[in-house]
Amino acid sequence: MSDSKKKALIVVDVQNDFCPGGSLAVARGDEVVTPLNKLMKEFLDRGEPVYKTRDWHPAQTKHFAVYGGTWPIHCVQNTAGAEFHADLLDDPRITVISKGIDESADGYSGFDGTNLGERLRNEGVQEVWVGGLATDYCVKETVLDAVRQGFEVKALADAMRAVNVKPDDGAKAVEEMRQAGAEIVGNAKKAAGGS
Ligand SMILES: [Zn+2]
Repeated sequence: MSDSKKKALIVVDVQNDFCPGGSLAVARGDEVVTPLNKLMKEFLDRGEPVYKTRDWHPAQTKHFAVYGGTWPIHCVQNTAGAEFHADLLDDPRITVISKGIDESADGYSGFDGTNLGERLRNEGVQEVWVGGLATDYCVKETVLDAVRQGFEVKALADAMRAVNVKPDDGAKAVEEMRQAGAEIVGNAKKAAGGS
């Protein structure tokens, strides 16, 4: 009975810096807001847990190119770029998980350096639904960690978009998630799409 399975929704990093106009904008990243808002409402209406992760970096971290890492400066704690997209559903029942706080790590996954796994286990969650930004980094790593930690995972292809540093990164990430055991729900082309 799949209906009796305890589920949670994980909304990954739908923050200003990852949306059009942000410092690390994902093409059409803001398109994930509408489907994720609908799902968050459905989960909350059923009394199921909803988590939002946020990239929450210190001003200096080796994650940023200027300090030896990969990325332009983005989602620095307490800046406008780190705020959730203005249209993303806000609700006191949603738990925010801050990640990427460690200045010596990338912190792509919502499980990395956080208590997300412990919280899900404490709530008896068996299956997690994951969407957000970006397909080829934080969504992928969150999905892979969820699978490793023993959760069944639905990767919400209609509700994720890719950075695509290389044009096929998003498509590769979808395939990697599928091969790891996640179920890809929806249109994988959207998940892989970007520019
Ligand atoms: Zn980051």
